[in-house]
Amino acid sequence: MRIPIIAGNWKMFKTKGEATTFVESIKAAVSGTEVEIVLCAPFTLLDTLREAVLGTNIKIAAQNMHWEEQGAFTGEISPLMLKEIAVDYCIIGHSERRQYFNETDETVNKKVLSALAHGILPIMCVGETLEQRENGETEKLVRTQVINGLKGVDGKQIKSVVLAYEPIWAIGTGKTATAQQANEVIYGIREVLKELYGEELHTEIRIQYGGSVKPGNIEEIMNQEDIDGVLVGGASLNPDDFVQLVNF
Ligand code: 13P
Repeated sequence: MRIPIIAGNWKMFKTKGEATTFVESIKAAVSGTEVEIVLCAPFTLLDTLREAVLGTNIKIAAQNMHWEEQGAFTGEISPLMLKEIAVDYCIIGHSERRQYFNETDETVNKKVLSALAHGILPIMCVGETLEQRENGETEKLVRTQVINGLKGVDGKQIKSVVLAYEPIWAIGTGKTATAQQANEVIYGIREVLKELYGEELHTEIRIQYGGSVKPGNIEEIMNQEDIDGVLVGGASLNPDDFVQLVNF
């Protein structure tokens, strides 16, 4: 049984005050739901959020991390630092990090392994550009991203990994992949997981969809057989929208 996971990715938005107000305004409305709720916030908000979500069913996530525990890596944050704040999850390999900060499948893989070694649950993102989709490369590319990103992750660890399929052309553009398009790629990812981890294990791994998810389209997306949750950018910034997403 895969528990649905609804995650808001705040990207580079919100101050501490705004983060606290957000949690205050949603916590009653999202309590008692059966889905897992995660807020993925900038590093500077994580401590504040940890306190704000105490006693609620809301989990917190970082949006990136380095794979080393410490070192001369100016501007980076280590898994030990995130553990100190007791973050539950960390997004790894978001397309914006791949596009603007040169993350590769190799660095994504190092980060996934490091997160797992430190008890931080990775949300590993994959997805194609519009050009790649139009050239018919989606399946091959996503397959490569999944295989390379998960290198060295064993059968025990894989249950702790969440995958997120986020087609780049659907992020922040208002163009959602149709629920069928999303499910088709996610079904493909599940087939790859079946090859890697076998018939039984692959059914336990959760795969989210991300890209212009809104209160108006979440239900159709969540109704798809292989989609276990959503990773939401824009619509997760607004408390009312986020509550609707959680209570889809
Ligand atoms: P939008 O929901 O704003 O399209 O962003 C999706 C995303 O990148 C979530 O990680």
